[in-house]
Amino acid sequence: MKLENLTTESLTGLPYADVFKAETERLLKCGMKNPVMVSVDISNFKYFNQMYGYDEGDVLIKKYAKVYCHDNKECVLAFRIYVDHIILLLDVEDEDMSSIEIRYDELNRKFSASVNEEYPLARVRAYMGIYIIEDVNENITKMIDRAQYARRSIKINYTQTVAMFTQGMAEHTEEEAGIIPMFFSALENDRVKVYIQPKFSIEEQKLIGGEALSRIMDKDGNIVPPKAYIDILESTGLISKLDYYVILKVIEIQKNWMEKGYELTTISMNLSRKDFWEPQFIKAIDECIVKSGVPTKYFEFELTETLFCENYVTVISQLDYLRKRGYKISMDDFGSGYNSLYMLGKVPVDIIKFDRGFVLNSLGVESGRKILKNLMNTFTDIEFDVICEGIENREEEKIVHDCGCNAVQGYLYDMPLPYDKFEDKYMTETMGAQ
Ligand code: C2E
Ligand code: MG
Ligand code: MG
Repeated sequence: MKLENLTTESLTGLPYADVFKAETERLLKCGMKNPVMVSVDISNFKYFNQMYGYDEGDVLIKKYAKVYCHDNKECVLAFRIYVDHIILLLDVEDEDMSSIEIRYDELNRKFSASVNEEYPLARVRAYMGIYIIEDVNENITKMIDRAQYARRSIKINYTQTVAMFTQGMAEHTEEEAGIIPMFFSALENDRVKVYIQPKFSIEEQKLIGGEALSRIMDKDGNIVPPKAYIDILESTGLISKLDYYVILKVIEIQKNWMEKGYELTTISMNLSRKDFWEPQFIKAIDECIVKSGVPTKYFEFELTETLFCENYVTVISQLDYLRKRGYKISMDDFGSGYNSLYMLGKVPVDIIKFDRGFVLNSLGVESGRKILKNLMNTFTDIEFDVICEGIENREEEKIVHDCGCNAVQGYLYDMPLPYDKFEDKYMTETMGAQ
């Protein structure tokens, strides 16, 4: 990489974003053989800093810039878009174009292996997204976004280190571009709403809790469902903003119910992986709850299985902390994907939430029912509570009950309701209250 006359940052010796963009535009117009935009990231870098300290973190960033940018013959320009996150502009020879995916996969694996050998506690992983530039007049930011999008598509796919940008992804990036401003505008204008779906016990036919679920209203008052925004907010790191907002709302709602003299019920909230990256996040929530005066047992946190794949030690210690403080922890969507049964003996959770898929799989299939029944037996034996979600009719309810589950959540009982509707329908005054 030749960087004559360009202003560069001291740590990596790479130019700044605006210089990169202007230079890229110039180079593309001058004519390059095969221009390619690449987004590289080191996963677990925050954890690396926690384990080895910031000075060692700087050493790693320098090495990273050296390998991917300064010593990489194909790299003509690069900049650091985020702490551990670099964008490369490559110019590739024709004969090397067909092997680009394989070559960079090798580079990523070699780099990660050498870091992990030197720093065995870190478990870092370098992975990237590649966008082959066909139209040199395209907006530079759009090219970067596309490389980033491709990279994020394999963020939790640990078998792959390179993702090529595909046409199918193009539609998603446009959608992503619309969702983010919509989310910020909803946050600023009180259009992020909290819905609550009740949880019931089958035998007592009684309310045993609720799950808080977010809904965003667009400018015209239409409800945008979570499937349109959760993944995008996850992959862009904005999910913690949403989670924090929802959690503060739930605390406010519970406090209000307590003041009205209602018999409180435990409300669960969804946490995502990103919420555990900043140790202050969990502490801040705990402080707000303590301040509200609502006992901690009325709050539960739902986490998905994937959370346990990364940053294992830091996640576990934060969960231990929450449980010690009296909060309930549940493992959400159990059985829907990255199943890691061996981990279950070790994770600090209280409740296993069976995914709807498990129940569907048991309908009319004897072996499916046996698996469900035996799993539930095992879980209750190790003193986990179990609950099945997505129960839509009495037939499904009977299956899960026959398998030993007494707690359900699903359309059979109710949809997620705006929290004030939930209040009207389910909250009752405690005995003795006026
Ligand atoms: P989840 O946590 O597994 O929530 C349960 C989902 O199942 C909800 O979808 C709920 O509406 C749906 N559901 C409930 N009963 C039934 C049923 O009988 N049949 C079927 N087919 N589905 C049922 P929803 O509200 O669309 O949320 C989808 C996912 O988005 C949630 O899955 C949760 O993982 C995520 N999510 C929603 N709000 C938040 C949030 O504020 N923060 C985070 N991190 N995730 C959220
Ligand atoms: Mg959930
Ligand atoms: Mg779930």
